[in-house]
Amino acid sequence: MARPSDVAHDPRANTLTITWPDGFQSVYPAAYLRAWCPCAGCQGHGIRVAYREAPATTRIADLWEVGAYALGIKFADGHDAGIYTWSWLRSIAYESPPVGRKLGAFESGLYSGPVEAVG
Ligand SMILES: [Zn+2]
Repeated sequence: MARPSDVAHDPRANTLTITWPDGFQSVYPAAYLRAWCPCAGCQGHGIRVAYREAPATTRIADLWEVGAYALGIKFADGHDAGIYTWSWLRSIAYESPPVGRKLGAFESGLYSGPVEAVG
């Protein structure tokens, strides 16, 4: 997954918007990103990464690039262990198949579980 052409945090909307090189644009609420934190502390050491409901009040405190391949996110609750690769962010985007808010789990990159329609 190529590096995004833009990453924008909107504190008022409490969202992160990523514009991909192909023009595809993904909007992520902060709580949705926290719920999909891929770190071992949130997910354990297996190959399964599951949605872990986070409070709607979750906020983003800081963002930084990790090399050219990922985004580091610090949440207002102090959690900053998640390394969100561009491909991971693209996988959990609402617009990526299966289209909608993904509330299940990925195993070896394959998604299964509920999807909630958005918009
Ligand atoms: Zn985590």
